[in-house]
Amino acid sequence: MSFSNAHQAAMKQQSKKGRCLHFKDGTRCNEIIAAHSIQKQGQLRLIAESGHVYRLNSDISTLKESGGIPLPKKIGVNRASTFVGMCKHHDNKLFEPIDNKLLSYDHEQVALYAYRSICREYFVKENAVTTLGEMRSYPGLSSAQQQFLQDGVDGHLLGFERLRRHKDIYDASLAHRDFAGFKFTIFGSTSRCSLQASGLIFPDFDFKGRPLQHLGLRTNQMDLLTFFTAPTECGWALVLAWHESSDESCLRLMQSLVEEVRQGLKLEDMLLRFSLACCENHAIRMSWWDELPEPAKKQATDMMAVMADPTVAVTADYLTGGCEGLADWSFDRIQVAC
Ligand SMILES: [Zn+2]
Repeated sequence: MSFSNAHQAAMKQQSKKGRCLHFKDGTRCNEIIAAHSIQKQGQLRLIAESGHVYRLNSDISTLKESGGIPLPKKIGVNRASTFVGMCKHHDNKLFEPIDNKLLSYDHEQVALYAYRSICREYFVKENAVTTLGEMRSYPGLSSAQQQFLQDGVDGHLLGFERLRRHKDIYDASLAHRDFAGFKFTIFGSTSRCSLQASGLIFPDFDFKGRPLQHLGLRTNQMDLLTFFTAPTECGWALVLAWHESSDESCLRLMQSLVEEVRQGLKLEDMLLRFSLACCENHAIRMSWWDELPEPAKKQATDMMAVMADPTVAVTADYLTGGCEGLADWSFDRIQVAC
C-alpha cells in the first residue's frame, strides 16, 4: 500500500473512533452516536432530493480525477455531515433547544449551533494530529519525508491548540449557562436554499482584502468565527457567530461586509463566497449544482479549494470577488447581536 493510501486508511479508521466531547464527559458517555453537524431534519431534508445531497469530497481518487481539487459527491442524508463526537445522552440533552425548536433571536440557540461546529472541527483536527503522528513510524520513510510529516504534525497541532482554547471558552460558558457573551448576525431568508454549511474560521482577511490576524504566527491566540445554516419560523437563516473574546477580528470582518454592501456589492454573492471558501463541511442541493454552467461550477470548486490545501497560503483578496450571480438564495431580514 502506498503511503498516501495508508494515510487515508488510517484517517478513515481514526474517524470511526467515537468519543464524547461534551464539556461534562464522564461515566454516562457510554453510547457514542453519529451526530449530524448539519441538522438532519431541519436543514438536510430541506435540500435533499431522493434522500441525497452532494458533499465535498477530497479523497485520493477524487483528487486524481480532478487534478487536486475537491469535488461534490452524492451522499445519503443519513450519512451526510455526521461525526462520532458526542454520546447519545449528552447530544440529546445539550442540543434539545436547537434540535426540537426553530432558530430565533436567541443567544443560547446560537451558542449551541456554534458549539456543534466547534466540536466537529475539534474531532477532525484531533484525528488529523493523531493519524499524522502515527504515520511517522511508516516503514521506509526518508529523513526528508519524516521531516515533512513532523512539520505537518506541528502545523495541525498548532491549529488544534488554537481551537482547544476556544472550546475551553465555550465549555465554560455552556457549563455556567452564560450566553450573554455570544455575538451574532442572523441573515434570514424566505427564498430557496441550496447550500447548507456548518463550520468555523480564524478570520485572516476581510471582505476588502485587509488583514485581520496573521495566521503564520506561532501563537494559539487567534480569534474564531463560527457559521451555520438553521431552520427558522419564516424559512431558514445563515448565521455568523462568535464569542466576545474574538470581538476584534470578527467585528472588523462584519464591518467590511457592511461597507461592501453600502458600496453596492450583493450580500448574496459575498455570503456564498464566504460559505464556499471558509468551510469544508457543506451539503449541496444536487439539482442546483447540476444545473450550474461549467464555468460557474469551476468558480465554485476553485472557491471551495481555497482552504483545502494547508500548504498553500491564501491570497489576501480571496473574499473580495468571485462567484457573482451563482447563488439562488436571497436574504430579506438581518438581526444583529453585538
Ligand atoms: Zn457524553
